[in-house]
Amino acid sequence: MRAGRDPVGYDDAREYPRPVAEDIVTPAVRRRIMQSVPRRGTRLELVVREVVAAYRVRYRLNATDLPGSPDIANKSRRWAIFVHGCFWHGHANCKKTKGGARGRIPASNRAFWAVKIADNRRRDARKARELRRRGFRVLTIWECQVCDARRLDRILSRFFAMLDGPAPPR
Ligand SMILES: [Zn+2]
Repeated sequence: MRAGRDPVGYDDAREYPRPVAEDIVTPAVRRRIMQSVPRRGTRLELVVREVVAAYRVRYRLNATDLPGSPDIANKSRRWAIFVHGCFWHGHANCKKTKGGARGRIPASNRAFWAVKIADNRRRDARKARELRRRGFRVLTIWECQVCDARRLDRILSRFFAMLDGPAPPR
């Protein structure tokens, strides 16, 4: 790893060995990741994209030709990342929304929201399944995880380290 260089602009991750999750980025890059906690009003996907760029992996934004239009994806290396809002996508047992296993269902208009959020959860699961069937590794990042830079780094490090491992079962 070359410390101190701006990682943005590297687009061929294969040139750089990325052996273990902890060493996947340089300390300088890690510092930057830690500083990338969302500022008020920043869209979640933008924060995640900024962090993903630090790992020197090649990616495409909004792959609309893939199931579910993942927010970040690499078709040839077959991975896709979704960035989901906790309420709308019904994050199970989320600390932020404090909802249950089916996400948070607001007290007013309960029946409407229960159906709406269940639909979203089902659709998300189906899209992820379709991608996995095509041999993609799929990662969902939740809004509540984006706000925790250390956790986000851990999740992404593990995910990108795994990409160098054996192919997932179809
Ligand atoms: Zn959440």
